Amino acid sequence: MRLVMKFGGTSVADIERMHNVANHIAREVAAGHEVAVVVSAMAGETNRLVNLTRRAQITDKHEYDVVVAAGEQVSIGLLAGILQSKGIAARSWLGWQVAVHTSDAHSAARIRSIDAGRLQTELAAKRVAIVAGFQGVSGGVSGGVSGEDEAMRVSTLGRGGSDTSAVALAAALAADRCDIYTDVDGVYTTDPNMVPQAKRLAQISYEEMLEMASLGARVLHTRSVELAMAHHVPLLVRSSFASPAEDDIIGTLICDEDDIMEHEIVSGIAYAQNEAKITLLGVDDKPGIAARIFGPLAQGHVNVDMIVQNISPDSKKTDITFTVSQDELTRALEVIKAHEKDLGIGSVNTAENMAKVSIIGVGMRSHAGVAQKMFDELGAENINIHVISTSEIKVSVLIDADYAELAVRRLHAAYGLDAPA
Ligand code: ASP
Ligand code: MG
Repeated sequence: MRLVMKFGGTSVADIERMHNVANHIAREVAAGHEVAVVVSAMAGETNRLVNLTRRAQITDKHEYDVVVAAGEQVSIGLLAGILQSKGIAARSWLGWQVAVHTSDAHSAARIRSIDAGRLQTELAAKRVAIVAGFQGVSGGVSGGVSGEDEAMRVSTLGRGGSDTSAVALAAALAADRCDIYTDVDGVYTTDPNMVPQAKRLAQISYEEMLEMASLGARVLHTRSVELAMAHHVPLLVRSSFASPAEDDIIGTLICDEDDIMEHEIVSGIAYAQNEAKITLLGVDDKPGIAARIFGPLAQGHVNVDMIVQNISPDSKKTDITFTVSQDELTRALEVIKAHEKDLGIGSVNTAENMAKVSIIGVGMRSHAGVAQKMFDELGAENINIHVISTSEIKVSVLIDADYAELAVRRLHAAYGLDAPA
């Protein structure tokens, strides 16, 4: 089997933990697998480097990348050395050495392609390849006129990008699985800090994971899940703090929906706090009006989430309600104020301290009454719903934040997700 193993910053936070990581790698090598490893910088290191770029007032993104990519250079070298001290053949690889080719969007670059050939040779020679996450190299692939833009430069993928590095490498190496080692032992049905009865999911589909992740269950970088889905890379989320000797895999497998035998109707409950609701009353009901509202908001970098437009009884005026995160409320209102006349808005209402609670599950596609049950449960707790939105595998409601915890607990039990006592 060919494996990509990814270890985050907390897993390589100090030399002792790196030894523990090395033991996890040793177990897979001993099992006869070909192993490539992607690591992040040691915990806190990237933050430290980012702060240095701020203090030095670095504005050139190219130089920012050179500085912040440095953390991973340290961790790959240390880990490769530790493996060697345990008698395991290993070699470290920086992004440009692999090479991981990225776009020119420095500090937020996208991976374009990975030359897997060199690493294939390493793996075939039974040497563990320790690859720096988060970084790549821009330019050099266009082959056009030479100039600053064409020069190969160190690039980074954006904070938290090493999950994406690992998945991209797994795809390029046609790995059988990409194991993401982190400080939790998997993906839970909901936040265990909020609901102690939350249980670890043995399996979840990419699509469900994307919904869970974007709704606030922050285990994996969203981009990495999208990439895994596109390339059908099975992802296993597992704990690096578990004993390396353990052969039984405890974790959550994220895979194609078709590879999951039996689906729960609802797999998880997600919630997002700090939402705000904006209602535009008496907006002109004519073609192009939504574009004229949401266009400027997008340009102002306001992330709009749920959107509801009412029917207009007289075909002249209508109401539009949408949600934004609370920290973007002021910015959103400024944008609207600037366009108020042009849009013919009657008045603007806002409400803060809202929460979005969502039930997620691919099983919804084939079952009726799933949403109805949600509304019944919330009604029974006297929780008022402000906005509802749905997709094929998700139903979300906007409620007062004070009731978020109650709602999540109630729904978790109602859909049979509570772990047996
Ligand atoms: N070290 C980088 C960061 O902290 C990348 C990562 O950890 O995923 O953002
Ligand atoms: Mg991370």
